[in-house]
Amino acid sequence: MPRWQASKNDGIVSYRLARQRTVQAFHEGRRTATEVCDAQPELRRVAHHHAAPLNEPCPICDADDLVSVTFAFGSGLPKGGRLVADLREMTRLRHRGKPTTCYSLEICRSCWWNHLRESYAISGDDLSSSAN
Ligand SMILES: [Zn+2]
Repeated sequence: MPRWQASKNDGIVSYRLARQRTVQAFHEGRRTATEVCDAQPELRRVAHHHAAPLNEPCPICDADDLVSVTFAFGSGLPKGGRLVADLREMTRLRHRGKPTTCYSLEICRSCWWNHLRESYAISGDDLSSSAN
């Protein structure tokens, strides 16, 4: 995860176990590639234009490295979430003075595997730890 996306005070919730169960189900033949590689068109578009590299191979196809995209949810934000495309947007969200929760997904741009990776709440008073 790129460092600017979460700071250690943000109370990060990891979805690694759920992810691992899904990956395992695929490799054991209990889930198909069609089921687990189902990124929607909008998510694919975002993954092409606004993603951050994760430097980890795709657990499904192993043909590409994963990328990460982050969406922010909270009062005053779009129902479908606001894309956090860069540090400037993250800083703006941190300082808007409203509770905001960010959800980061990992995506493979070759097979379109996608899974929730982590979530974290950001508050409006976190200037020092959001600097990097
Ligand atoms: Zn893949």
